[in-house]
Amino acid sequence: MASAAGGPKKSVEAEEAGDPTGDASITGADRFKPENAHKIDPQGINAHKSRGGKRGEGSLTDCSDVAGVVFSTKKMDGFNQDGPRKPPHKLYPLAEKAKADAHKHVHAVRALTNEDGEAGVIFTPSRMSGDRYRLRAYIGPPTTAGHGAEVGATQVTTGTLVIWRNLRFSRMIKQGLSATPDAKLLKEGQAKPYELADALDYLDTAGAVDAGAFVGLSTVRLDDPDPGNGIFSSVPLHFAPAFLEVEFDQAGFETLAADEYKKARRQGADDAAAGQSKFALNLDIDALYWMDQDFDPGTAVVCLPMRSPESYNKKVGIFSSKKLKFAGKVLDDDTKTAVVGLSRSRALNGFLRVLTKDGALPGLTLMYSGLGYTWQVLLGGRISGIAKDYRGAFLWCGNRTYTNNWTIPGGFFPYDCSSNGSHELGHIMFQPHGFAPGTAGGPIAARHDPESDHICVMSYGKCNGMFCGLTLLAFRGWDVPQPPA
Ligand SMILES: [Zn+2]
Ligand SMILES: [Zn+2]
Repeated sequence: MASAAGGPKKSVEAEEAGDPTGDASITGADRFKPENAHKIDPQGINAHKSRGGKRGEGSLTDCSDVAGVVFSTKKMDGFNQDGPRKPPHKLYPLAEKAKADAHKHVHAVRALTNEDGEAGVIFTPSRMSGDRYRLRAYIGPPTTAGHGAEVGATQVTTGTLVIWRNLRFSRMIKQGLSATPDAKLLKEGQAKPYELADALDYLDTAGAVDAGAFVGLSTVRLDDPDPGNGIFSSVPLHFAPAFLEVEFDQAGFETLAADEYKKARRQGADDAAAGQSKFALNLDIDALYWMDQDFDPGTAVVCLPMRSPESYNKKVGIFSSKKLKFAGKVLDDDTKTAVVGLSRSRALNGFLRVLTKDGALPGLTLMYSGLGYTWQVLLGGRISGIAKDYRGAFLWCGNRTYTNNWTIPGGFFPYDCSSNGSHELGHIMFQPHGFAPGTAGGPIAARHDPESDHICVMSYGKCNGMFCGLTLLAFRGWDVPQPPA
């Protein structure tokens, strides 16, 4: 479309107003009423071709709106012709555009029977979820006066068929979070210049401590409505308005096992080693990510344990070319930024791709733990999750972060943990941030409803985890407008 201003609904309405299909005497909102659908276009409520659907193809009067569009008119092996696929029946003559006569045989294709008296037509509907079809089949000799809709016609009519899409969740993994962090990690946190007081102080960064007590990780409920104080109604219910059915390959969260944790850390380090030159780094990656030690996933607090900058330099040696750059007693800012970038984009990606089997699992994967990497505990840069390649996302932060949400006076977090999981899953489904009066990075206004109309969980707007209209349309498969180049 020339202009996408105002979103797909306005674009389609404008197109309809400028070049109305069907009965042009029906105007305005009446054109979108289901009872008028057959006068306008039997596909009247389906997605327009300009937005990825099949409505608006051809002409409504000569069957070119359906022939070759929602019914195939091309020969296919195993159906209309012999080929590598052998049909179990005698070949079906190819369907062709019917000859419309006013309201008779419109929106139709016709097919002759084979010598067994069988005919077949291949239905190729729009793949846009929510699109609807109702089919009528009727028979008669080529000279028939019948058109299937008259009283006594030899016909069969289907119910209304609705297109649904499916989304699958393959794995939901929780890395345990113990009240007693690994002693080696805690020791570095207690050393200068960090001087964290104790285990609680260490775990506080991960949002796992509330009023001096350890509260651990939050409860994430993707498959069921939250009971009790939950404000999230479940992923299936949030996706349902997009005609998208969510299926779970496992009932609840599994706990990350030690052997898989070890493999994931190893891949993270290997991917970081392979990618560090892109960050102008030349580090001893195994020393940085503490690969000379096995960690218990339950006491590591993070996905990727790291030596502190001070301890790393001690390990590689003061004269090593691989040591981290310091400005005086403080880690050099550019070096810190580069290591953070390496950890986020390469090491975490490698970690996750072990869990998603290189993205080959049939569904999405969500991995929940305290934080991503140790430097978030020591040097800040805490975030509540990140979506990565290979069809998976991380979800981070403990129970305090999420119970301290906007529904509680003084609470700051914009949604609960389940909603935040949904936010990260939205990213894996290629949704960018929306605009909120917060700080969501890289927001794209054209991909979401204005926040004043509908808060979207893809923004950092305070909400119960719902998606805005445009995001739901994207999940339906619509070609939601892209921002101007
Ligand atoms: Zn985000
Ligand atoms: Zn949105």
